[in-house]
Amino acid sequence: MTSLLPKLREIVGDQGLIADPSAESRYHGDWSTHAKCAPLAVVRPANTTEVAQVLAACHEARQPVVVQGGLTGLSGGATPAGHELALSLERLNGIEDLDAQSMTMTVGAGTPLEAIQQAAEDAGFRFPLDLGARGSCNIGGNIATNAGGNQVIRYGMTRNLVLGLETVLADGTIISSLNRMLKNNAGYDLKHLFIGSEGTLGVVTRAVLRLFPRLGNKCTAMCGVDSFTNVVELLHLLGKKFGGELNTFEVMWANYFDHMLANLADARSPFADHQYPLYALIEIETADEADGMARLEVCLAEALEAGVLQDVALAQSLREAENFWKIRDGVSDIPNLLTETAAFDVSVPINVMESFVADVDSSLNKRFANYSNLVFGHIGDNNLHLLVATGDKSDYQAINDTVYGVVGDYRGSVSAEHGIGLIRKDYLMYSRTPEEIELMQRLKATLDPNNILNPGRIF
Ligand SMILES: Cc1cc2nc3c(=O)[nH]c(=O)nc-3n(C[C@H](O)[C@H](O)[C@H](O)COP(=O)(O)OP(=O)(O)OC[C@H]3O[C@@H](n4cnc5c(N)ncnc54)[C@H](O)[C@@H]3O)c2cc1C
Repeated sequence: MTSLLPKLREIVGDQGLIADPSAESRYHGDWSTHAKCAPLAVVRPANTTEVAQVLAACHEARQPVVVQGGLTGLSGGATPAGHELALSLERLNGIEDLDAQSMTMTVGAGTPLEAIQQAAEDAGFRFPLDLGARGSCNIGGNIATNAGGNQVIRYGMTRNLVLGLETVLADGTIISSLNRMLKNNAGYDLKHLFIGSEGTLGVVTRAVLRLFPRLGNKCTAMCGVDSFTNVVELLHLLGKKFGGELNTFEVMWANYFDHMLANLADARSPFADHQYPLYALIEIETADEADGMARLEVCLAEALEAGVLQDVALAQSLREAENFWKIRDGVSDIPNLLTETAAFDVSVPINVMESFVADVDSSLNKRFANYSNLVFGHIGDNNLHLLVATGDKSDYQAINDTVYGVVGDYRGSVSAEHGIGLIRKDYLMYSRTPEEIELMQRLKATLDPNNILNPGRIF
């Protein structure tokens, strides 16, 4: 490190190097429960060339590097070990180009998601990736984790929103695949290697993103539902009536819904004192607001009549819609809720989701005298989040073993959208075959033969 540091300073200048980051806690870890740690140093390159030079130097010196974006990840992937150098992309921040004709935007990897959404809106478009951490996460991190979020049912995951990518390999080679076309079958589509690879195969430096027309007429409803069978029925009904106009279908189990209301100062139930086992938050977005609202009203009235749902509240104003969303999205506003619980991000097919939740509860019940398990998720995408706590942090490992064991029984995914990082790698084998994991390892060894990029993440 003594000979590497001066070399790195030469590449990135004084502004780009924090040689002693012990007091710079921002770089010590992400939002996950993984233990925070100061890296050896923090390198903050200002452009792709500097990223390439930094990586080439680290490759030669066999210096392990952890890649950092907005540090909102929930898997520990960006949390350094003490012998690692942190490579922060925060200075590659900016929108380079917005092409209204092609409906594309070219951005630096360190650009916050919210800035990208805003720039798209200002130009009359929409960049539809949306998640609770929008103000802090960066597009490079979103791409590296193939982030999902609230509108996957309509627009797909990050993978579907990226047309082109510029990446730097571990040895400093720049792979420029800044494609701007929707169709391009000229050989392998290499960007897909890097999207969702959690920084283990290359460092994303720039991206070409797909934009969509901004319809801007959202209609939001909260439904009280008496059974999971009816939740699925409601999802199918909305699919039939609205097809691609359905933006969101989020479901909250009663214990999550009640916990949010009890702990968020300004959230209130649209159903006053009436309680239901399940709550579905629905959002459609149509070209014509009045038409959308009228169609949603008719559809939900029919569902009410048919007993598919038991209560419904249609947001009559932006404020009411925000109140519904606050209940669903308020996790990060409740101090310590994400950091003091074992937080799961799993997926199982929708036809077994109800029995999966029951089996998780019964397994937790057998192992722990007291526990809470708050359940919610992007049900239209098969994605469930569980927040499990016993009040004793030393149970954390046993909780993980219990819940992931049930995921394995169902051949579900131990990570639907947050990634494996450091905290789920012991459970990867529940969701991937030995052959799949071996192929991942072979790709890793080919692209990063000295194992310097995010070593130990994923496997
Ligand atoms: C309140 C809250 C809500 C959330 N909601 C969602 C949600 O709905 N859906 C969802 O998918 N996630 C969600 N997340 C998780 C998190 O926001 C996403 O994983 C996000 O994509 C991470 O982006 P980041 O810039 O913060 O990445 P970081 O946390 O900095 O890094 C994440 C991983 O990507 C790697 N990485 C970062 N930048 C690059 C790069 N340029 N090149 C290569 N590798 C890189 C890191 O090494 C690490 O492995 C949520 C998090 C919070 C705190």
